[in-house]
Amino acid sequence: MKTEPNLSIKGILRMLMANIDDEKNMRVISLGMGDPTAFSCFTTTSIAEDAVLDALTSQKFNGYSPTVGLPQTRRAISEYLSMDLPYKLSPDDVYITAGCTQAIELAISILATPNANILIPRPGFPIYDICAAFRNVEMRHFDLLPEKGWEVDLDAIDALADENTVAIVVINPGNPCGNVYSFQHLKKIAETAKKHKIVVIADEVYGHLAFGSNPFVPMGVFGSTVPVLTLGSLSKRWIVPGWRLGWLVTADPNGILKNAEIVERLKKYVDICGGPATFIQAAVPQILKETSDVFFTRTLGILKHSADLCVKKIKDIACLTCPTKPQGAMTVMVKLNVLMLKDIIDDTDFCFKLAKEESVILLPGVTVGLKNWVRITFAVEPSSLVEALERVKTFCHTHSYEPKG
Ligand SMILES: *Cc1c(COP(=O)(O)O)cnc(C)c1O
Repeated sequence: MKTEPNLSIKGILRMLMANIDDEKNMRVISLGMGDPTAFSCFTTTSIAEDAVLDALTSQKFNGYSPTVGLPQTRRAISEYLSMDLPYKLSPDDVYITAGCTQAIELAISILATPNANILIPRPGFPIYDICAAFRNVEMRHFDLLPEKGWEVDLDAIDALADENTVAIVVINPGNPCGNVYSFQHLKKIAETAKKHKIVVIADEVYGHLAFGSNPFVPMGVFGSTVPVLTLGSLSKRWIVPGWRLGWLVTADPNGILKNAEIVERLKKYVDICGGPATFIQAAVPQILKETSDVFFTRTLGILKHSADLCVKKIKDIACLTCPTKPQGAMTVMVKLNVLMLKDIIDDTDFCFKLAKEESVILLPGVTVGLKNWVRITFAVEPSSLVEALERVKTFCHTHSYEPKG
């Protein structure tokens, strides 16, 4: 079967940046990438910085760590995640990785057996497809339903899964859709996975970044229904994507993955991974223990404010519609009506012309699997968000069939 040679998000953003017209002398505003560190309102807590400094200057962490990760780091993450689970994870369930990106690579690599296929969401996160293409794993896309808060189309799972299906990927809170799934919906996903005897890969890199009506429920809650590989990192919740500290955790109280020898494969595979810097790992126990709720609440407050602002500004733009208000994470998917625009062919054309004329970067939806949608990152300084969306509005007016005054 055909694997789509997707362009990476970073790849397309580089091309969009190259399309900026320098002569215009306009400040470039990117709502394309999920790296909020570019904006001064998104800074990490001094607790985290101090923890890293303490670890570094102790001179105890200049050597290699065990390839599975430092024991104290594994313990701290197992305790952190266990707080939200009905059972206790063991430190041995935790593998420390270079960000959630390497956790994705690890998950796919250990599940990549001959003829294996993995079910992944559309729209989704392209790193999964790129990684699978390198591992010769077939990716089968199921739709997320915009009119149902981007829930998983469970009927599609039943239609796609066969005897070679090994896993289903669930991204919650979601990138690119900003979805936060209810307990009930997650339970249904777990039961569907159990029926097909497949593993759930739960990408929870945005864990706890939920600011709408649904609270964040980790997939591991259903670990006794179905084995779960939980992926996460410090990148998003602590706003330190450059620190490259992530994890893969087996949330599997029944030991099914052990029996399937997946745990053995994991232990072997990490020997060739080269995880994150030892002193960053050593800082994790202090970071997890001491970060205050004030910091988390503040971040959530800014994200909620920005998400609301984003939705409100989009309502003012005729050719864009937002089917569901984001409830978490940092991005929202917005539908583009190209029929209202006289000289725009599709989402990619829209984004390239927008970059050139208004120095604003949005991500074409086709990059995440949905043509004629765009992904907007709202984890941006509110004033920049407003200015960028004002420019998008101007752009849409200029290109619409009946430009208004
Ligand atoms: C950002 C992101 C990742 C990668 O996380 P890092 O810790 O920066 O490697 C993985 N999955 C999703 C859905 C993301 O948005």
